[in-house]
Amino acid sequence: MKTVSEAILSQYELVVGLEVHAQLSAQSKIFAADANRFGDAPNTNVSVITLGHPGTLPMLNEAVVEMAIKMGLACHCEISRYNIFDRKNYFYPDLPKGFQTTQDKTPICKGGYLDVKARKGNSKDYWIKRIRLNRIHLEEDAGKSIHPADADYTLIDLNRAGTPLIEIVTEPDIRQPEEAAAYLAVVRRIVRYLGICDGNMEEGSMRCDANVSVRKKGDTKLGQKVEIKNMNSMRNVQRAIEYEFVRQVGVLESGAKVTSETRLFDVNSGRTFAMRTKEELNDYRYFPEPDLAPFVVTDEDLMRIRAAMPELPEQLVEKFQQVYQLPEYDAAVLTDEREMAVYFEQVCALTKHYKAVSNWLMGPVKSYLNETGKTAAEMPLTVRQLADAVELTEQGALSFSVASKELFAALVNQPEAAAEATARRLNLLQESNTDTLLPFIREIVAKFPNEAAAYRKGKKNLLGMFMGEVMKASSVKIDPKKAGELLRQVLES
Ligand code: ADP
Ligand code: MG
Repeated sequence: MKTVSEAILSQYELVVGLEVHAQLSAQSKIFAADANRFGDAPNTNVSVITLGHPGTLPMLNEAVVEMAIKMGLACHCEISRYNIFDRKNYFYPDLPKGFQTTQDKTPICKGGYLDVKARKGNSKDYWIKRIRLNRIHLEEDAGKSIHPADADYTLIDLNRAGTPLIEIVTEPDIRQPEEAAAYLAVVRRIVRYLGICDGNMEEGSMRCDANVSVRKKGDTKLGQKVEIKNMNSMRNVQRAIEYEFVRQVGVLESGAKVTSETRLFDVNSGRTFAMRTKEELNDYRYFPEPDLAPFVVTDEDLMRIRAAMPELPEQLVEKFQQVYQLPEYDAAVLTDEREMAVYFEQVCALTKHYKAVSNWLMGPVKSYLNETGKTAAEMPLTVRQLADAVELTEQGALSFSVASKELFAALVNQPEAAAEATARRLNLLQESNTDTLLPFIREIVAKFPNEAAAYRKGKKNLLGMFMGEVMKASSVKIDPKKAGELLRQVLES
């Protein structure tokens, strides 16, 4: 690839549209009753319908329609009321029917948008970008071709054939590689919140094709696009787009034209390679699927589905700032996973120290989850334990640093252990009650009249000596913050 100077690059604009396929986590396949499950022995979840035997009839799994509608509602789409499926005809060994059943002219969801927050690198500054959706449609996945190394044959596993998919297609609105990564993060968060897909790009349950073109800044006509496949993480989608932008500018600057083609991303080199020139659209000979009856979405369906939807991250970020007075940063972190957000709200029903709850979750709890590789769904403390631990620390009965280490360690995965009793048993509690501490502190100060006088004359660093004496003389632990406050009060009076 030619090197292109920054000055030249800055004359061009990047244009990207993304196509995301998400495997829906339904029990069975989209048109057949075989299990929609991964990891089974090859070619075991393959009914005659999946195999496309003559005389068999597909039947629509209604659960997948509901999942697609949920996604559409979450993305502000219009939901189509009258829906049909189409056949997309092509030959490939992992496609036993000789066509893919999909939706061509009548996607179940039309229009819509997602707002994403993008940033350069680790920068604190971000920009918000609205990315319009073109459509979301339902279709089936194909089987899997396996090419064993050094073998002169290909293996076919048809377990995946007929897996329900939604394809989410954006308008060509993306202008920065970071916006593409941010968009994928938002899509993944939503499918996880809705419980319709695990959003795992590394394992391929969510896949992304990037359509990339460039044009001179100020041009209104779109440039020739290239489709990039084979990126199995958000980071790699961003890298592929970054590479492709420079490559295409280089092609145009050399006086050549960008070829319409499909390119593959190579993780190791960070480059894209031509795979095949793109088939013409009409090669697929789309036509309505005669074996499936049209399906209609009614007002009642929409009401019922809408009512069954959880609050979405977008709304929760807002709510966490308004209702719980959390900083924007906390709200974003706590709503990243639905289980975390739900847990936060459950704890906040038991204590009003919302920011303290957030500190616990973002601090010791998150570190624990990271270290153990657990998800928020495997929360190590019960709602009650965390609420009690927060109350104890907020009352000064123990310090946050002791609580978040020693008490936390004692409570982890011991749902029956009560926070206060555990803190007492481990001798972590500290005295912070003014009425108890004040006479005791007066007594200590009275033992050192000369030092007290010197302090009053300005030797403020004697405070440390008094603190030491107070701590030494006490038979129980004392809240050092409270003791310091009271000491100053006594010495200065
Ligand atoms: P095709 O007919 O090749 O499938 P579509 O018009 O269906 O193309 O668009 C597929 C995806 O490519 C969409 O996400 C769309 O936003 C995007 N796209 C279309 N034209 C361009 C372009 N010139 N540059 C970048 N992306 C584009
Ligand atoms: Mg298309």
